[in-house]
Amino acid sequence: MKLTNKYLLDLLKIVEKRNPGEPEFFQAVTEVFMSLQPVIEKRPDLVELGVIERLIEPERQIIFRVPWIDDNGKPQVNRGYRVQFNSAIGPYKGGLRFHPSVNVSIIKFLGFEQTFKNSLTTLPMGGAKGGSDFDPKGKSDNEIMRFCQSFMTELCRHIGADLDVPAGDIGVGAREIGYLFGQYKRIRNEFTGVLTGKGLSFGGSLARPEATGYGLCYFTEEMLKANGKCLKGQTVAISGSGNVAIYACEKAQALGAKVVTMSDSNGYIYDANGINIETVKQLKEVERKRIKEYLNYHPTAEYHEGCHGVWTVKCDIAFPCATQNEINGEDAKNLAKNGCFCVCEGANMPSTPEAIEVYFANNMLYAPAKASNAGGVATSGLEMSQNAMRFTWTFEEVDVKLRKIMVSIFNACDKYSKEYGMPGNYMAGANIAGFMKVAEAMKAQGHV
Ligand code: NDP
Repeated sequence: MKLTNKYLLDLLKIVEKRNPGEPEFFQAVTEVFMSLQPVIEKRPDLVELGVIERLIEPERQIIFRVPWIDDNGKPQVNRGYRVQFNSAIGPYKGGLRFHPSVNVSIIKFLGFEQTFKNSLTTLPMGGAKGGSDFDPKGKSDNEIMRFCQSFMTELCRHIGADLDVPAGDIGVGAREIGYLFGQYKRIRNEFTGVLTGKGLSFGGSLARPEATGYGLCYFTEEMLKANGKCLKGQTVAISGSGNVAIYACEKAQALGAKVVTMSDSNGYIYDANGINIETVKQLKEVERKRIKEYLNYHPTAEYHEGCHGVWTVKCDIAFPCATQNEINGEDAKNLAKNGCFCVCEGANMPSTPEAIEVYFANNMLYAPAKASNAGGVATSGLEMSQNAMRFTWTFEEVDVKLRKIMVSIFNACDKYSKEYGMPGNYMAGANIAGFMKVAEAMKAQGHV
């Protein structure tokens, strides 16, 4: 698909000029613009009102210093971010990422994507993202706590249960959310649902840790069903071994698939017998060890160094669940060559534009992240509802709601792809469906 609409091409030039050195943000906007071409032709009113011009400019960007003291008593300084992208349909909502690669481009691409994703969930949540270039790897619990406390000391001025509700992302799990919540409560002197992904003893929702991975599988099942297939009996390659990857593996196995790979930023494991997910959980969630240690428990498995080899493994379905741009054009060609017919994204923007072209050229089924990984934020929305009601639902109740939401997201992608003449293009369907709700809300609220 090529971008040919003059109005959108001119806008893209403005994006490039106004956001220099931000390739990930530019990539995310370009992808959405390609999908919006037919909408522009059908809805001149939205052009007239400058809806798209406003949508590509974050409402607010906050960048702050995060000073903390390491275990040797040495002062350290990191940079903190919160980009509040769009609040047309609800309070800002989106995760916090702690990873050395974090910069303004990455946070902006994530916040932009989050706006459409949150709209797709059918829940009232605007889009935001935040984080820091802090690297939690190799840090002691005390260092993590001191960093989180310092980060929240600034962030707490900008968030609130009805204003902006952050959650976890790469490098921010239950431990970090606990420390962040404790510091927010201490400074603001209020116990509110200001973060999601909280521990169960202080307002967390059952099924939130599982939600992104489980939701990915529910979306995949629905997409496969619509195309005369199912997950049962399929061989699945998964990248990553964090929150999303672990629960995608667990649910895919429960639905009858055989998962043969998982990875971390050092390399990947291949287990022809199927990944033992309990071993991965123990290594990653409890002991915080590297994935290659899996071989200590399952010596017949293989370990290979490097991040891209995982896409050379023969599989029917690929679940990229690690990070952005982890599948490039070459990786996508390897997947297609080995018979992979379906890519469902657990990570945010894991496929480069070249990889997406390969999927379409080979008629592969492709589930874009903003639809297929929306189960996490949807369940965060359910956590907010439970906090507001001061009530908790059972695991099964949350899981049933999550499944319903994922089915409705697939149906929206399918409907809009057909309505705009691109049946089977769920990327276009997701972008258009997510856009329409936000655009109508922005139109109704006037030029703000
Ligand atoms: P985690 O921190 O729990 O796990 C991340 C995994 O990806 C780890 O195995 C990590 O390996 C690997 N990884 C991270 N960065 C890189 C890199 N640059 N190159 C190779 N591997 C890398 O994060 P999550 O599982 O929460 O998030 C994974 C993806 O899913 C992200 O794109 C995130 O934005 C997205 N996502 C997460 C949601 C959630 O609810 N958690 C919701 C929706 C999307 P290592 O340990 O070596 O760094």
